[in-house]
Amino acid sequence: MQFDILTIFPEFFESSLKTSLLAKALAQKKLSVHLHNIRDFTEDKHHSVDDIPYGGGAGMVLKPDPVIRAIESIPKLKKSRSILLTPKGALLNQQKIVDLAQWDQLILVCGRYEGIDDRVRELAIDEEISIGDYILNGGEAAAVVLLDALVRLIPGVLGNEASAAFDSFSHGLLEYPQYTRPPEFRGLEVPKVLLSGHHKNIEAWRRQEMLKATYERRPDLLQKAVLTEEDETFLKELQKEKKEGRQ
Ligand code: SAM
Repeated sequence: MQFDILTIFPEFFESSLKTSLLAKALAQKKLSVHLHNIRDFTEDKHHSVDDIPYGGGAGMVLKPDPVIRAIESIPKLKKSRSILLTPKGALLNQQKIVDLAQWDQLILVCGRYEGIDDRVRELAIDEEISIGDYILNGGEAAAVVLLDALVRLIPGVLGNEASAAFDSFSHGLLEYPQYTRPPEFRGLEVPKVLLSGHHKNIEAWRRQEMLKATYERRPDLLQKAVLTEEDETFLKELQKEKKEGRQ
């Protein structure tokens, strides 16, 4: 998978690309990341990338010309998609990450200041993505979030492929609680079933813990989750217990 990232701060990505799974995927050539400095596509002698907003108002706006020229300079692969990181975009979630993993090339455009002249969106952007309802200083942190989430889905990058399959959201539910050694820590014991070696019971316990965590923390996810009859019964009992507990 290839990423082309357009930014005025390419140095922002240095440590992320040298760390953990991103570094491993780059070394194994399962991932390639090309950083394009928008400033290199300016034509004036001061290499200015921004200008004052038409109509007045605070801050500066990234000029369309260098951004468009930077996008046009990138050789496009057959399955290529250009994405603008913006708080006005569709909210990112795991399903979107799975969809994006199908593309061969993602061109990520990072805004700064008050954003990018809107004509860039009209002329060269396929999709707009937001990583949450808050305002970052720039799109670079959002681009790292996308990269970090996507690299987990590239075959062969995770040591154990199964771990992505059981992550929170992968089945529409939050993950079960995880424990490691020691079996007892500051008076808290690891649930006995996990030490039993009984795989079927462990699986059943994990499923119930996923349902419980989702019910308690993100009940909105249950609307879309694929649930078995057994899951539904468990959730009804949980609901009843909670109601009785409250009375
Ligand atoms: N004035 C803009 C607004 O209110 O929509 C915010 C500009 S923000 C300070 C600068 C840049 O950061 C944006 O152009 C965008 O690229 C990026 N950015 C900020 N928040 C973001 C978010 N939640 N998701 C993705 N990108 C974001």
